[in-house]
Amino acid sequence: MSPKIKTRIAKLLGELGEKGLDGILISQPENRRYLSGFDGSTGFLLIAPDKNILATDSRYIIQAKSQAPDYEILPVTSDIGGWLPGLASELNIKRVGFEGEYLTFSLYRRLCDILGKGKSVLKLIPVEGIVESLRAVKEPGEIKLISQAAEIADAAMDYIRGNIHPGMTEKEAAWEIEKFMREKGSQPVPFDVIVASGPNSALPHAQPSARAIQKAEPIVIDIGARVGGYASDLSRTICLGDSDETFKKVYDTVLGAQLGTIAIVKPEMSGGEADQIARVIIEEGGYGEAFGHGLGHGVGLATHEKPRLGPNSPEELADGMVFTIEPGIYIEGWGGVRIEDLVVMEAGKVREISKAKK
Ligand code: ZN
Repeated sequence: MSPKIKTRIAKLLGELGEKGLDGILISQPENRRYLSGFDGSTGFLLIAPDKNILATDSRYIIQAKSQAPDYEILPVTSDIGGWLPGLASELNIKRVGFEGEYLTFSLYRRLCDILGKGKSVLKLIPVEGIVESLRAVKEPGEIKLISQAAEIADAAMDYIRGNIHPGMTEKEAAWEIEKFMREKGSQPVPFDVIVASGPNSALPHAQPSARAIQKAEPIVIDIGARVGGYASDLSRTICLGDSDETFKKVYDTVLGAQLGTIAIVKPEMSGGEADQIARVIIEEGGYGEAFGHGLGHGVGLATHEKPRLGPNSPEELADGMVFTIEPGIYIEGWGGVRIEDLVVMEAGKVREISKAKK
């Protein structure tokens, strides 16, 4: 068994044991990939002590065999209701966890119907966030891939700084960035490139529009690349020509909050406490109401994953976690400023992975 997959499964089985479960079903795509290596779009993992099964259909059998050599591949022709009850009784497993946040209600209901009619002793128990919590703490190999993705985004940010000009539309700038990242080796980008200028930059998740970029207005650029399945996430706010007084004040406040947080955040702090550091600085700057989103989020196989850094998040930060620190201030009618870096918690403090100038 590959040592990487073996370690991940061993940790998962430890968690299952504590919950009194005989096994777990995994179908959430990133969780499935993390635990098996298989990145096809359909399939269930059934993980139990001494038994790892990947059930998928004929479209994916060859891919599954090559990507998930640690699994017994079960070719299936029906959905899970057709094969799970029989397999579970064959393996003598009675309490199986499933991803309560992912399995659809209709599939769950149908499974319960089938189990009930067949008088099966199998019990399905919803669990939440077990694999996601394992994924939050990265292995060195994962940090390397994220760093490569961050390097591509850094280069793209440098590139667009040199090429963006008044009259260029948001869409044109976004496409230039995406093309650049793909040419530099990014896999399909993990999320749509955001280029939001002037009043549009007050929308944290604006869609690039046909609006022509102008001088002296904020331009929020939020981009990510993907390498080996792993995402990066980076935001910068720039201004062409002379900026107004508001821009200077807002930018300095956001930058102060971001640098201040990076300097203080440490392991065992909760996501809520980390968020509070930036929030207090922004409140003191007079913009408390204008920081509407959380401080940051974990990044890995998914762009948004654990840990969540935001108001009241109890999730504890720990060495090995990779997450963003991205305070922002958004003023309707004027625009916004967001500065986002990807960081890794290492030896008790935060190290910045992204290097784009700010
Ligand atoms: Zn982000």
